[in-house]
Amino acid sequence: MEDFIKDFAQCPICGKEFSYNKVSSPSIKVSSYDLDLKPEYRTINVSLFSVITCPNCYFTFQEKDKSDIINYVNNNENFSKIVQFLEYIGKTYSSKVDNSSNKSSDFYRDQLFLAGEIYSILGLSLEVVKIMIKLSWYYREKNDEEKELGILYYCGKLLEREYQNILNEDDFIFALFYLGYINYRLDRKKEAAKYLDYLLKKYKSSSNPYLKAAKNLRGELR
Ligand SMILES: [Zn+2]
Repeated sequence: MEDFIKDFAQCPICGKEFSYNKVSSPSIKVSSYDLDLKPEYRTINVSLFSVITCPNCYFTFQEKDKSDIINYVNNNENFSKIVQFLEYIGKTYSSKVDNSSNKSSDFYRDQLFLAGEIYSILGLSLEVVKIMIKLSWYYREKNDEEKELGILYYCGKLLEREYQNILNEDDFIFALFYLGYINYRLDRKKEAAKYLDYLLKKYKSSSNPYLKAAKNLRGELR
């Protein structure tokens, strides 16, 4: 069984079709989870292959959004802003686009920055947070706590602004959990407890994994 599968995507901006590698399901092996459910992968770092970049225009998106991204872009009033941003990146960014199984972690980091900016222009704040959390994981793996916490601080600010507008239950649970986790990491234990208690009181019967994580984290605060 091969570890990687070749797949194709069409860029919603320039229309070019390009290939990329994704990890085959049997090769996704998690050995453990951190307190915030960051997976620790046994062999292949699966996160690296969760973002893809058009080699023609640098448009970068989460692979999970492959079938929806065209609608996000076409129905968006900021289409021209994305084109402007990509033109700027085309002039200033010099690394080669790599969607292969040999992708470097440095290029992955750059992809997260590009995707974060693009989803922000598209107004998809919660997706920006999810992408930035992956960037914080990148720095956690590099043991660069200062950068990790800087990014978490930024995510916390975004979540504080957005969480009350989230309608989807799983997304709301995710947001409240991370508000708890980020405050915990920033040593604001009272704030952390406030979000976690609210979350645990509101959802007693849901099987969402972030609720179990919230219970564990709440235990750390005692
Ligand atoms: Zn493109």
